[in-house]
Amino acid sequence: MFSYNAPEGLLNDRIILVTGAGDGIGRAAAHAYAAHGATVILLGRTLEKLERVYDELEAAGYPQPAIAPLNLETAVEHDYIELANQLEETFGRLDGILHNAGLLGVLTSIENYDPIIWQQVMQVNVNAPFLLTQTLLPLLHRSQDASIIFTSSGVGRKGRAHWGAYAVSKFATEGMTQVLADELENISQVRINCINPGATRTAMRAFAYPAEMPEKNPTPEQIMPLYLYLMGPDSAQVNGQSLDAQGDGHA
Ligand code: NDP
Repeated sequence: MFSYNAPEGLLNDRIILVTGAGDGIGRAAAHAYAAHGATVILLGRTLEKLERVYDELEAAGYPQPAIAPLNLETAVEHDYIELANQLEETFGRLDGILHNAGLLGVLTSIENYDPIIWQQVMQVNVNAPFLLTQTLLPLLHRSQDASIIFTSSGVGRKGRAHWGAYAVSKFATEGMTQVLADELENISQVRINCINPGATRTAMRAFAYPAEMPEKNPTPEQIMPLYLYLMGPDSAQVNGQSLDAQGDGHA
């Protein structure tokens, strides 16, 4: 596991957007960021799940979060602009985005892959993070120290049979991280990195590996050290990296 002891108040006064915040790793990240002082904007497609996380954060006494319901599969340019306007009006800036929402699609050969599902996966995993990043960059530029984190996967570094659009989308995510990091290096205080969570106990993992014992894998809460490190000021000099949440790295 990546080793990092996040100091208390690491993210005090930071405004951080988390996509796919209603479940799995996104929910755990929303908790971890809020517990370290951040005001978290919970973005996702299922309102009830977002409301549940909102209530959990409020009950814990963390800074009051905000909810941004958005279906990344169907959202169009206008929806992103509206979100940016709302965030500007409410907060005036943004200090971080965790692009975590993801769609697995189907596990089958490219030869048999349904083109509609292919497009859905690419929309949620690649096009939506691109659109969201592009629209929100002006707000990130207003931050003293902003961090964008994309979410990759092992199959985004080495292709594997039957992982289809999901694997291809994660290769694209690695590419987007590198291109954007290179563009902003030296001209901006916004840094861009990518996390490979590794096998983690969530609904997506259970769907992909139905025969696996869930207890075999760490919980989303257990993989949070890297999520905290890359979001906070201790990683200010780290840019364009793809790091493993369950690797033996340390800070
Ligand atoms: P989950 O399926 O548990 O959670 C995915 C989240 O993404 C959910 O909150 C879901 O919302 C949201 N989401 C999916 N589609 C949309 C959409 N169209 N619009 C908005 N939100 C959407 O997955 P994990 O927590 O496991 O995965 C999180 C990230 O980590 C993903 O990017 C995944 O690819 C990556 N990853 C996970 C691994 C693992 O072992 N778990 C391993 C490697 C990478 P809702 O709950 O409403 O459906």
